[in-house]
Amino acid sequence: MRSKKRGHFCKGCGGFLPNEKFSGRGHREHLCKECKKAGKLVSTESNSDYNRNFHLLSKAIRNCMIVYMEYESFFLFEYQNSRYIIGDDLSSDIYVYQGDKEQKFLVSEKLQKSEVVMEVLCKKYYDTMDNGHSFDYEELKYDEFVEISKKRRQHLEVISSIQHFK
Ligand SMILES: [Zn+2]
Repeated sequence: MRSKKRGHFCKGCGGFLPNEKFSGRGHREHLCKECKKAGKLVSTESNSDYNRNFHLLSKAIRNCMIVYMEYESFFLFEYQNSRYIIGDDLSSDIYVYQGDKEQKFLVSEKLQKSEVVMEVLCKKYYDTMDNGHSFDYEELKYDEFVEISKKRRQHLEVISSIQHFK
């Protein structure tokens, strides 16, 4: 198994940074010291709207899975009956998979990168890792005994489309 990503996600910079870049409170807010100082991403939504959206999104984003490939890794999930994919450092765009169309991947319009979306994705990402839903692609492809739910197995189609794509 590849080593897990160290550090912590900053939604201001949009990437993983080493732990020492965060203050205690910054950890929880997912903002590094610099972004905090710069006052980045001060939420314009009221707190209750934010919490409500957070809760709704948390429920709607399901069947998450991390897939490690040789040179890159991806975070995949289901949202409103579509499948989505983002690079596993969460810094890429969010793509929606449309298997029946010629263009298989589109930058998502329904789910755009906003503070609340990134916060939910980040939480889901850590939960996915903690719950052991991260896999090596090769292992998944060739070992039919890897325990993985049917829903998650559907993500493999998305991954193999990426490969054809290249
Ligand atoms: Zn930052």
